[in-house]
Amino acid sequence: MHELKLKLDSSDKAKIFKMHKKEGDSVKKDEAIFEIETDKNNIQISADIGGIIESINVNEGDEVQADTVLALINEEKEASSDEKDSENKTEEEMVYKEEPGSKTVEEVKTSGKINEGGKFDIAILGAGPGGYVAAIKAAQLGAKVALVEKDKPGGTCLNRGCIPTKALVRSAEVYRILNGAEQYGCSIDGISFDWKKIQKRKDRVVNKLVGGIYHLLDSDNIELFNGKGTLVSPDTIEIEDNITLNADNIIIATGSESASLPIEGADLPGVIDSRMALELKELPEKMVIIGGGVIGLEFAFIFAAFGVEVTVVEYLDCVVNICDTEICQEITRIGREKGIRIITGARVNKISRGMDDSYSVSFEKNGNEEFVSADQILMAVGRKPLLTGIDADKLGLELNERGQGIKVNEKMETSMPGLYAIGDVTNKIQLAHVASHQGIVAVKNIMGEECEMDYNAVPSAIFTDPEIGEVGICEEQAKKDGFEVNTGRFPFAANGKALTVGSGEGFIKIVTEKETNRIIGASIIGVHATDLLAELTLAIKNKLSAEEVAETIHAHPTTAEVIHEAALDVGGRALHYKR
Ligand code: NAD
Repeated sequence: MHELKLKLDSSDKAKIFKMHKKEGDSVKKDEAIFEIETDKNNIQISADIGGIIESINVNEGDEVQADTVLALINEEKEASSDEKDSENKTEEEMVYKEEPGSKTVEEVKTSGKINEGGKFDIAILGAGPGGYVAAIKAAQLGAKVALVEKDKPGGTCLNRGCIPTKALVRSAEVYRILNGAEQYGCSIDGISFDWKKIQKRKDRVVNKLVGGIYHLLDSDNIELFNGKGTLVSPDTIEIEDNITLNADNIIIATGSESASLPIEGADLPGVIDSRMALELKELPEKMVIIGGGVIGLEFAFIFAAFGVEVTVVEYLDCVVNICDTEICQEITRIGREKGIRIITGARVNKISRGMDDSYSVSFEKNGNEEFVSADQILMAVGRKPLLTGIDADKLGLELNERGQGIKVNEKMETSMPGLYAIGDVTNKIQLAHVASHQGIVAVKNIMGEECEMDYNAVPSAIFTDPEIGEVGICEEQAKKDGFEVNTGRFPFAANGKALTVGSGEGFIKIVTEKETNRIIGASIIGVHATDLLAELTLAIKNKLSAEEVAETIHAHPTTAEVIHEAALDVGGRALHYKR
């Protein structure tokens, strides 16, 4: 008999918050059995072996400590046929089924809850990082909230975007470090990777976070309706033609979907979008990525790290053209050094299939027709607002110019009273953290606290290798906008922590307004660049000057010292770097 013990620091106390299993249930290894609440966070306790749960020694609400035996699992008992069935299910399906808080349309219909009064203060359509954060904020402010989602909560960001890609980025990083172990004085033989296991780890990370959202929604008494919602009027949502929700205010948070090029061959089977790229069963030998934007480059670095021969074909003269020009040049140089072929100034106009199941991407460059072949093509040419369940014409809802997304003002109000829109569907800035912030602004306005979005200090985190972080405006944009600017720079090669980590590539550039010395932008490429954004975002948001940042003590040895040095360098006084 196996004892499932609680692993905690000896000083920590915890409480059993929820039990997902009962005595006699079969359980798979890594399947959640308990959820416990500690002072710091909620943790899922999963089975460390598979078997039948012989006994559960605790109850919901019980206080527990490190090493408490929570349950006894009999690993020898034959798995039931149910369990055998479940072996065939994906890990993702298993966890989803187990999660609390979700109601299927059937459950909602039979609960009678809606018939008793499907009236809410706020109803939100879409549970991505915009919608679910808005729901939590609204509940915190005392509103009765309904959240409608046809899929799992977390949206593109958590289920098909930011989080799964970052899990893959981490696996790529671990593989790179192992391969370069010699430089750290370590020897490892026979280094390899298992793509299936990498995928499983990615799914586990996603599922854990999805579980966390279910828990948060549950704790805040947010009614989650699992079905496709249609906005039939500014105060009514119908879920799959059966359930009607009424609300004083509705927030549309339906997100975006991958865009495709209107070219011949775009629908061939070997052409995938970012969602499919995350689910690849096996890696191709060669991949062409159409579009060298954020998505294209992140995938280029991931796949190249695992030995895929990657070619990026970009229409503009540089990749990640939203960034400072020097950053674009640096990431192009580093990408090429890592074996990624980057072709810029190339307009893709056709994809065709060869005899041997390979694909050929034709593009025009300098007036010439050229092509590049691969066995998989990733289309990464942007994302478009998703208006599922919203017939703007019928509703009389105003869209942005050229119909690109729902038009909103700075309070996130649409053209219709009581109706708000947030996130990618507004087509303002397609970033998860912007969507969340817009959700909070919308909710505050609904609940009577006037506030507006401020887009002057929006950080942007790009997970190439090394990472890129940008906030505010870059040097060229500042000049175009009529600012007279100063800049301060510092190379990671002169930062102690970066060198100990073994990553001396890249630099930081801080942009200040000449007259006031106020920081208005920063661009970073280098190790931990995305984490370094926080300080600079705070500085820009609070109109801090380079001196104020320079006068702040920065911990040594940390990569954050590059910010200190770059702030000093604005006045030409960096301590560890001579221009
Ligand atoms: P994007 O707009 O960043 O890049 C698309 C690229 O495709 C552009 O550089 C464009 O010039 C190029 N392109 C268009 N037509 C082409 C053609 N015919 N031939 C060759 N190239 C062509 O879009 P994306 O990378 O798909 O990302 C979509 C959105 O998601 C962006 O707003 C992005 O900021 C956001 N996102 C952000 C992150 C992050 O912050 N880490 C991660 C993923 C996505």
